[in-house]
Amino acid sequence: MIIVLKSDVTESQIEHVVERLTTLGFQAHLSRGTYRTIVGVIGDEAKLQAEPLAAIPGVAEVVPILPPYKLSSAEAHPEPSVVDVRGVKIGGGYVALIAGPCAIESYEQMDVIAGQVRKAGANILRGGAFKPRTSPYAFQGLAEEGLKMLREIGDKHGMPVVTEVMDPRRVEVVAEYADMLQIGARNMQNFSLLTEVGQTQKPVLLKRGMSATIQDLLMSAEYVLSQGNSQVVLCERGVKGFDDVTRNLYDVAAVPAVRARSHLPIIVDPSHATGRPNLIPPCALAGLAAGADGVHIEVHHCPEKALSDGPQALLPDQYAELADQMRKLVELFGRRISSNPSRAE
Ligand code: PEP
Ligand code: MN
Repeated sequence: MIIVLKSDVTESQIEHVVERLTTLGFQAHLSRGTYRTIVGVIGDEAKLQAEPLAAIPGVAEVVPILPPYKLSSAEAHPEPSVVDVRGVKIGGGYVALIAGPCAIESYEQMDVIAGQVRKAGANILRGGAFKPRTSPYAFQGLAEEGLKMLREIGDKHGMPVVTEVMDPRRVEVVAEYADMLQIGARNMQNFSLLTEVGQTQKPVLLKRGMSATIQDLLMSAEYVLSQGNSQVVLCERGVKGFDDVTRNLYDVAAVPAVRARSHLPIIVDPSHATGRPNLIPPCALAGLAAGADGVHIEVHHCPEKALSDGPQALLPDQYAELADQMRKLVELFGRRISSNPSRAE
């Protein structure tokens, strides 16, 4: 880290800066220029960045050298990480196709959709049992009853399952049924939830918050990693935009931007990013072309009766057509759709 001092800094302020850094356990190297004095600081940069150094009198600017997300950074781990969801690999050339309804509504609904997405080539089944709804009057999910259905249907169709956990008190029960824990956009900065899932050894699907920067997303991943759970997959699902032609603003550039900064796999969710079925296929393909390690899509066999996110659901046939195109694109890029060892291919 470099600390740039103010042009009118006094000698006693310089001494105080050096003393403060030394007391904190860092080495300070002064470099006096004609107009400015700068201090090179040596020590654990992540700890340094947690200190309010900009508040020391005489300090003009604190310039970090390393990113504050230490464990998630590409510097910490130059090779891409591969996350294993019950045998389905994500990252390092392996692509996940995650599909299923927004919410688990009944055993029959989940069973029909699971069979169809599995046949289309999806390798991980999704479905929400705890739904983060904007309205408290909207369907909130089937809770534990839904988790049981998801587990049973995932096993029946030979697919690992991912579902959202919204409450730190429910992590244990969700982890009992799910192969991967989803942290939704609205909870990306629920730090007690991140800490709690970090204490499990379950893979985590961490969705980008709707107003979160890429650095915010990586700092949230850092919460999970710093608890000892290294199985984190990031997800770009759109950020708040100003145009209601799409539900959110799909930030496809986030994919290569994350790739340049982090070893963690990143997938895209064009369903929540666009909110419009006709926009989902091109945006799914764009995500893969940008280097995404997977695509997360909501599918419903009867969207007009869906209890959550019906207007953005793809029909199973539409999903099957898209899955074919995704497979071709993935192969074109020399990557592969991850096989699913839970079921004979
Ligand atoms: C979901 O996956 O159904 C969901 C609510 O997603 P997000 O958190 O991205 O809005
Ligand atoms: Mn949804």
